[in-house]
Amino acid sequence: AARAAAPRGTRVALGACELGGEALALMGGPCSVESREQIVATANYIAAYGATGLRGGAYKPRTSPYAFQGLGQEGVLLLREAGDASGLPVITEVMDPADVEAMLPFVDCFQIGARNMSSAPLLRAVGRAGKPVLLKRGPSATLEEFVLAAEYVLLEGNPHVILCERGIRTFETATRNTLDLNAVPVLKAMTHLPLVVDPSHGTGRRDAVIPMARAAVAAGADGIIVEVHPDPASALSDGAQSLHFPEFRRLAEELGPVARAV
Ligand code: PEP
Ligand code: MN
Repeated sequence: AARAAAPRGTRVALGACELGGEALALMGGPCSVESREQIVATANYIAAYGATGLRGGAYKPRTSPYAFQGLGQEGVLLLREAGDASGLPVITEVMDPADVEAMLPFVDCFQIGARNMSSAPLLRAVGRAGKPVLLKRGPSATLEEFVLAAEYVLLEGNPHVILCERGIRTFETATRNTLDLNAVPVLKAMTHLPLVVDPSHGTGRRDAVIPMARAAVAAGADGIIVEVHPDPASALSDGAQSLHFPEFRRLAEELGPVARAV
């Protein structure tokens, strides 16, 4: 993953977008896939306003075992349907190496969640699967540990790794996490891998998502991944940080000029 191995940077193709290339990637979607109506409506809306990818969780790594755990494989199939309906490639989290095979035909990019960043068996499994991997930084991982986790995927012969900064645990409680934008220029110098920023989990607050997305792009991120929901107040997970549809449209409009200025 060292920058010296590919000084001009690696590009990872995801649908029509090349992460690490000229165009900014903009991936959006609900925290959890909840129903066909919810995911198809979200996919069609964000595709109309410039999204390059659709995210949606089916296997959810919830802090509480009593919270909604996701629709599982049924959610994966609904996400695929919404991806096909909107023309967007789909990104979803895998938590168990045993699920990779069943998910593989329906998924364009496997997300490794922050809680599983350093799970070697899972990293090896998505490495062997060969499809793009969105690797999220663990909430207490140093940048060196984060890059070493990416090496597990690369070592299986899968070069399609996208890093994702999603906030780290600090003493601050006004926000869910502290979005570490230092990571953007520092990781860019350390590695040749494309890097996206998740201001939804990075802040936990809807009102902070657009400002921090702009800041991430200004810092040099290759893309943004955000949570969007047709009705955040009724979301089964992460409603407080999910954008309403018109806010996604505003985000897309505001990122264009920032991306052109950097
Ligand atoms: C998510 O993307 O919904 C998620 C659970 O993210 P993280 O692993 O960064 O907490
Ligand atoms: Mn979430």
